[in-house]
Amino acid sequence: MTKIAMTTPLVEMDGDEMTRIIWQMIKDELICPFVDLKTEYYDLGLKNREATHDQVTVDSAEATKRLGVAVKCATITPNAARVEEYGLSEMWKSPNGTIRALLDGTVFRAPIVVKGIEPYVRTWKKPITIARHAYGDVYKNTELRIPGPGKVELVYTPANGGDEVRATVQDFVEPGIAQGIHNLDASIESFARASFEYALSTHQTIWFAAKDTISKTYDHRFKDIFQEVFDADYRARFEEAGIEYFYTLIDDAVARVIRSEGGFIWACKNYDGDVMSDMLSTAFGSLAMMTSVLVSPHGYFEYEAAHGTVQRHYYKHLAGEETSTNSVATIFAWTGALRKRGELDGLSDLVAFADRLEQATIDTIEAGEMTGDLAAITTLENVTKLNTQDFIKAVASRM
Ligand code: NAP
Ligand code: MG
Repeated sequence: MTKIAMTTPLVEMDGDEMTRIIWQMIKDELICPFVDLKTEYYDLGLKNREATHDQVTVDSAEATKRLGVAVKCATITPNAARVEEYGLSEMWKSPNGTIRALLDGTVFRAPIVVKGIEPYVRTWKKPITIARHAYGDVYKNTELRIPGPGKVELVYTPANGGDEVRATVQDFVEPGIAQGIHNLDASIESFARASFEYALSTHQTIWFAAKDTISKTYDHRFKDIFQEVFDADYRARFEEAGIEYFYTLIDDAVARVIRSEGGFIWACKNYDGDVMSDMLSTAFGSLAMMTSVLVSPHGYFEYEAAHGTVQRHYYKHLAGEETSTNSVATIFAWTGALRKRGELDGLSDLVAFADRLEQATIDTIEAGEMTGDLAAITTLENVTKLNTQDFIKAVASRM
C-alpha cells in the first residue's frame, strides 16, 4: 500500500508517563502504517526538559510559530514531589503555560461524543466547547500573606513619569492575604478574535460571560473589548453565517448551560475556563474523552488531550501490571493536527485519513470495545473491557 504523503512536518511534542507510552503505540499502530509521517520532534519529557534547562519547550513553541501546527503529549508539571522524583535542578514551569505565553493563544476544549457514553445532563445532545482565555489573571498573580496590621495598596507608576495612581486594597487590622492580578487589552482582544474565528470555522453560536456587575473595571473591560471587536469585525460575518454572539453574566451562563442542548461555544476567562472545562468533561462522561486545541490569533494550532499523564496507571505499568488507559483524546489530538495540516497544505487524502481514524475510534467504542474508564459508565450492554494496547489494536483492525 502506498502511504499518504505529507508536505510540511507537524511539530511533535512528546511527553511523560502513561501518555508517552500511548503516544508511541498510536504512532506505531494507527498512523505510521498509513501515513508517511513527517514531524519535527521535540522531547518535552521531564528528563529532557531538565537536561536542556527547559530550552526544549521554548524551541518547540518557536517551531510551532514556524510550521503552524503542533501535536502535544501530556507532560508533568513539576511540583515539590516531582523535583525529588526526577532530581530536578529547578521546579520548571508548566510546559503548557510556557507554550501558551509564547503563542498567545486561546484554548478550546470539546468533548468527544459517542453513543453509549451518555452525558449526566439529559438535555445535552451536542458537544459544548469551552474557549479558555490562556493569559493572565490568577495564573500570573502576585500574592502576599499579610502577617498583621498594615495597608495594602495597588500602585501604578507611569513609565513616562506621569502622576502615580494609588488605590487601597485593604487597611488590615489583623493578619490576612492579598493578591494582585492583571490582564492586557491586546491579549483580551486576541482572545475575542480567536473565539469569533473559531465560532465561524465550526459554525457555532458563541457566548462570553464574566462578572462585570461586581468587577466593574476589570471584568467590564473584557465585556467591552468583546463587544467592540464583534461590532467592528464580526457582526456582518456572523449574520451571514446564521450564528450569534451574546454576552451574559457568568451566573446566568451557568444556568443556561445546564438547560441547553449543547452545540455552542462558551468563552470563559482563564479561571472560569479551567474550572468549568473540568466540570463539563466529567458531565459529558469522562475527562479521557476531552480534546483541546490552542488557537493563536496568528493562525497557529496546537492539539492535545485535555487530561494529564495518568501517573497512577504508569506506576502500575512499571510494576508489570495490566493497564486500561483510554487513548481516545490522544488519538484525536493526532487526527486534529493531521487534519489541520491537510487543510493548510491542500492534502485531501490526509484530511480523509484523519476522519477515518476518528470514525474507526468511535465505531470501536460503539461496538462495545472500550477501556475500563468507559466500560464502567457505559449504557451499552455486552461490552468488552480492553487493556491499553488491545484498544489501540482494535481501532487498528478497523482501519
Ligand atoms: P490525570 O493524568 O488527568 O489523571 C487523573 C485520573 O483521571 C487518573 O488517575 C485516572 O483515574 C483518570 N484518567 C485521566 N486520563 C485518563 C485516561 N486517558 N484513561 C483512563 N483514565 C484517565 O491527572 P493527574 O493524575 O492529576 O496528573 C498527572 C500528571 O499530569 C501531573 O504531573 C500533572 O502535572 C500532569 N498534567 C498534565 C496536563 C497536560 O500536559 N496537559 C494536564 C493535566 C495534568 P483512575 O486513576 O481512577 O483510573
Ligand atoms: Mg482544570
